[in-house]
Amino acid sequence: MLRARGLRVAMPERTIATVDHIVPTRDQRRPFLDVMAEDMLSALERNCREHGIRLLSLDSGHQGIVHVIGPELGLTQPGMTIACGDSHTSTHGAFGAVAFGIGTSQVRDVLASQCLAMDPLRVRRIEVNGRLGRGVYAKDVILEIIRRLGVKGGAGFAYEFGGSAIDGMSMDERMTICNMSIEGGARVGYVNPDETTFAYMRGRQFAPQGDAFERAAAWWRSLASDRDARYDDVVEIAASEIQPNVTWGINPGQSVAVDEKLPANADTEALAFMGFAAGQTVKGTRIDVAFVGSCTNARLSDLREAARIVRGHHVAPHVKALVVPGSQAVREAAEREGLDRLFLDAGFEWRGAGCSMCLAMNPDRLEGREICASSSNRNFKGRQGSPTGRTLLMSPAMVAAAAIAGEVVDVREFVGAEVLVGH
Ligand code: SF4
Repeated sequence: MLRARGLRVAMPERTIATVDHIVPTRDQRRPFLDVMAEDMLSALERNCREHGIRLLSLDSGHQGIVHVIGPELGLTQPGMTIACGDSHTSTHGAFGAVAFGIGTSQVRDVLASQCLAMDPLRVRRIEVNGRLGRGVYAKDVILEIIRRLGVKGGAGFAYEFGGSAIDGMSMDERMTICNMSIEGGARVGYVNPDETTFAYMRGRQFAPQGDAFERAAAWWRSLASDRDARYDDVVEIAASEIQPNVTWGINPGQSVAVDEKLPANADTEALAFMGFAAGQTVKGTRIDVAFVGSCTNARLSDLREAARIVRGHHVAPHVKALVVPGSQAVREAAEREGLDRLFLDAGFEWRGAGCSMCLAMNPDRLEGREICASSSNRNFKGRQGSPTGRTLLMSPAMVAAAAIAGEVVDVREFVGAEVLVGH
């Protein structure tokens, strides 16, 4: 589009490219067997060369899902406005950035002008206070929020997350929460930058270094919302009320606690598609595929939590199970800890970095009516490649437990108290 108008990229030094949706995760050698994926990547390489844009390609050592590599490289920083042609850009708001997904024509506008016209958002503060129970993770928190407020409840809003449960979370956990804000209809998810944020960022490749970091941190601290800030809406949730959640339907708001009965007034279209009946529990549902991956839950801490569940067990014989790290760096760090061996010995596939089975733009797909226990973020009809395939969203620990049991289980019952550490 820029070429057709004779335009250049306005600020190539503020523009970063990577490749995630289309890359195969089993064999990443070039050229890809999928001709369309190979053509797309070749075009991206040409365009980045022509416009002087940094491309974090497969041979860079930094390739991965854009919402994983931005933070891990220190490219994502508090106070930034970040736009990306992908809805889950809300992830980066975990750092106190204002970050949102944009459409293709808006990508053109940003590349050409570094500007974007958009309406101001209202702000809803979502406070989660107290301690999360054993076996309850950030994924459960955001599923609970979307369940309570609805998949369209956030339309026109930015969601600012706070409260003692959020304040006590790691950056990985905050990213999981902000990542799925878009699934609740909010364009932006946001957490105030704090000492946890700065500790995560310190020393990262593209973060300010030395004295410059201290100066930046002083400014970042000043960006946090005032204690007496006024919000357009405030929602409070007690952390102790949140259980391990699992979706039963065809949008991320259709979730229940794993041992809770499906509501009597549950959407009939969703029930029919999923093969569930009102009054039953999702617990006990036989699964065909288990997927630990995606920009929601494929960071090192997610893999560690899944590994804690898997240790000493084996995947059920009828289950195909894969672990797909969110980035090459996550994969390497996991391998340094021996997590690859642990997963492989337990019968999981250990893949290269990419989006994999989160969506159907690469060879990893469901077949027919298969049911997938998935740590991803969307359970729409057809999302995982088969028009009739069924997705159950849950935390990576729950996915790992389901892979081993061969059916959906309550992670709290699956392993002893000594293994589970809560969020
Ligand atoms: S992991 Fe899934 S949701 Fe995230 S960027 Fe990739 S395809 Fe999109």
